[in-house]
Amino acid sequence: MTTALPIPTIELNDGSQIPQVGLGVFLVEPGETERVVSEALEVGYRHIDTAAIYGNEAEVGAAIAKSGIPRDELYVTTKLWNDRQTDARAALEESLEKLGLDSVDLYLVHWPVPSQDTYVTAWEQVLDLREAGLTTSAGVSNHEVEHLTRIIEATGEFPAVNQIELHPEHQRQELTAFCRGNGIALEAWGPLAQGKSDLLTQPRLVEIAEAHGKSVAQVVLRWHVENGTIIFPKTSRRERMVENAALFDFELTETEHAIVTALEHGRNYGPDPREFGNK
Ligand code: NAD
Repeated sequence: MTTALPIPTIELNDGSQIPQVGLGVFLVEPGETERVVSEALEVGYRHIDTAAIYGNEAEVGAAIAKSGIPRDELYVTTKLWNDRQTDARAALEESLEKLGLDSVDLYLVHWPVPSQDTYVTAWEQVLDLREAGLTTSAGVSNHEVEHLTRIIEATGEFPAVNQIELHPEHQRQELTAFCRGNGIALEAWGPLAQGKSDLLTQPRLVEIAEAHGKSVAQVVLRWHVENGTIIFPKTSRRERMVENAALFDFELTETEHAIVTALEHGRNYGPDPREFGNK
């Protein structure tokens, strides 16, 4: 068995611990996923972020089973897809079957899909699944302040996390302040802006990277870590898995951190959560 990387954990509002860095497997082809997750576990990752809609839970499960790593050393997140919001128990049971697990560590309502008007029901059901022991923690993804406010008012329960598009170009000040102020941990999806922008070739970031003997990707990921955000950059390449987790042997100066923060220009690359999935 392999050794875990020295990655710190963050305590969630339910008292559980989540490794701050993991591997995301969105758009990792099912045919490649077992190899990718096996390599990540070999490299020392212990946190995998998948979703029912990614179509690769079974391959994530196969890699976990073959790794021989004890279940309590792994952190696995999956997500409830939009067409199962009133059917969460069966949906999670299907995910668990594919993953080969008795429970996940974190189960998320993937998108609110406001026009369906079932995200409160979805949240209530995810809370029931936590009570039933099928997930340790209950959270949401892509929820705006109005969605969070509604599910909290309906249940009195705060999600452990909100997983949102978050990167230097799209920092979501109001939403992140709401989450931080209410003890909801932030998970960044697209922490590297999904490779869709010129973020990784920004001259000022190249300078900072050179000063530390690191890559620009590491500078951006370190910025997330210093903000207290949970990240799981996606890569299929082993050398990048190593690179993306080697974030704890350097620090950005205050000025360097501020230079990354100054890249904000309100640019999102993913869908708008108020619109996505609406019919
Ligand atoms: P990302 O920001 O992690 O970017 C991935 C891209 O960056 C890939 O093209 C990869 O080749 C490139 N990359 C990775 N490491 C690099 C490095 N060291 N140097 C240069 N390029 C590098 O985007 P993502 O995959 O969309 O987000 C990460 C994870 O977040 C996903 O895999 C998934 O688990 C999750 N996610 C969730 C949602 C949601 O709705 N909840 C949406 C998208 C993604």
